[in-house]
Amino acid sequence: MTRAYTMRLDAYAVRRNQGRGRRRITFLLLLLIIGLGGLVLFRTGGTPELRLVMDLPAIGPKTPFRVVASSPRRGLTELRVRARQKDKYVMVYEATYEPRPVWAFWGPMTSQMAIDLEIDRAKIPNVRGKVLTLEAEAKTAGTFLLKSPTATVAKTLPLRLRPPRVSVQSASIFAAQGGAEVVVYTVASSAIRHGVQAGDWFFPGYPLPGGREGDYFCLFAVPYDMDNGDEAMRLYAEDDVGNITSARFLDKFIRRPFKTDSITVSDRFMQLVVPRILAKTPELEDKGDLLNNYISINSELRQKNAEFLVELSKKTTKKFLWHLPFVQMPAKVVSSFADRRTYLYKGKKVDKQDHLGFDLASVRRAEIPAANAGRVIFADYLGIYGNAVVIDHGFGLQSLYAHMSKISVQPGDEVERGQTIGRTGATGLALGDHLHFTLMISGLPVTPIEWWDSHWIHDRLALKLGDALGFKSKERGQSR
Ligand SMILES: [Zn+2]
Repeated sequence: MTRAYTMRLDAYAVRRNQGRGRRRITFLLLLLIIGLGGLVLFRTGGTPELRLVMDLPAIGPKTPFRVVASSPRRGLTELRVRARQKDKYVMVYEATYEPRPVWAFWGPMTSQMAIDLEIDRAKIPNVRGKVLTLEAEAKTAGTFLLKSPTATVAKTLPLRLRPPRVSVQSASIFAAQGGAEVVVYTVASSAIRHGVQAGDWFFPGYPLPGGREGDYFCLFAVPYDMDNGDEAMRLYAEDDVGNITSARFLDKFIRRPFKTDSITVSDRFMQLVVPRILAKTPELEDKGDLLNNYISINSELRQKNAEFLVELSKKTTKKFLWHLPFVQMPAKVVSSFADRRTYLYKGKKVDKQDHLGFDLASVRRAEIPAANAGRVIFADYLGIYGNAVVIDHGFGLQSLYAHMSKISVQPGDEVERGQTIGRTGATGLALGDHLHFTLMISGLPVTPIEWWDSHWIHDRLALKLGDALGFKSKERGQSR
């Protein structure tokens, strides 16, 4: 073998290998071109996922719903939502998005959208008829060859825009500021919440005992600080899709302006009440000095206690537990309902609060009678009220007894009208021995004067409620 021959053979091998390499590269390039071409021609975003989510059974005056769309490959390009009735429609939502380019596997895109929308009556002003269709459409990116994949969903729902019909059955509804009243009414079965709205307060209506289907009554109160009740007191009904009826219904509104009063806060008084209330109320922050602690008890704790009483009122029994006039503890009236008090310390105004009860002073540790028959729902220490008892008389009406030295009933006890429930004292925010007495409707204090007056109960409540209340102005066998 010569060396030259070997070299030729080697050169041949190199050429052959070069040829093989070139072919491989060409092949790979071809594959790449086909691949890219395929991508460019066929890589769409795929049909998007699209959902219409709705909780309400029908379209009402304001109907919230949610649209969820996703297209994870190249992202969404368009999203449209419209409300349609036959061939007329209103666009509810419309948006376009930049998709990911056909060749890109990363980079920005809108792969998912979840939007909360609302069909508002104002957006469909002339709509009539019984149904309305909500339609949504989502698109993703297409290619030269293939058009954009599109998803559509539609939901046809009943259209309900008429507010529930309410009609007042009672005559002579006379309500006074800080007082109570009752209204009997009928309401359409579509109503899911109805009663009396008084500013921020709401008094629920209950089926009238012994009444017909659709007959309701509402025992309500006018807030002691509301002086425009003729306008602000409303009979209210709301249905399951948000249609609302809110109508004036009082035949007469009686203003009872506040009485004003000022109370001088002395060091001696604060030294007496502040430490003992703080000790019993661990959740109240110690402000470090007597006056600030007093103010926080008088304002923050008073507010918390008021909120507690509103919560407590929800435990009411749906039954009239009383049938006779309310009794007043025999005592001297020291302070009456809805006094607007200014608190003075060393001649300076330090606080302002409303006194929402009657202060009744008798002998020390006098026996406290239950104002009427009912069920004890609270008997414990309660902030500014000290030892206190709350009796539920049914349908939101409750009585509060405060500053007691002794409690002789327990929650759950059924009490008789006039039954001794404990003794007066000076616990909580009180200087001398007395009973602080309040009646409340759904937790809102009302003047007890009305309830101590059997004529008032007869005229305002018994005439409207009839057998449902079963009111007797006196006990059987009792003479006037
Ligand atoms: Zn009081």
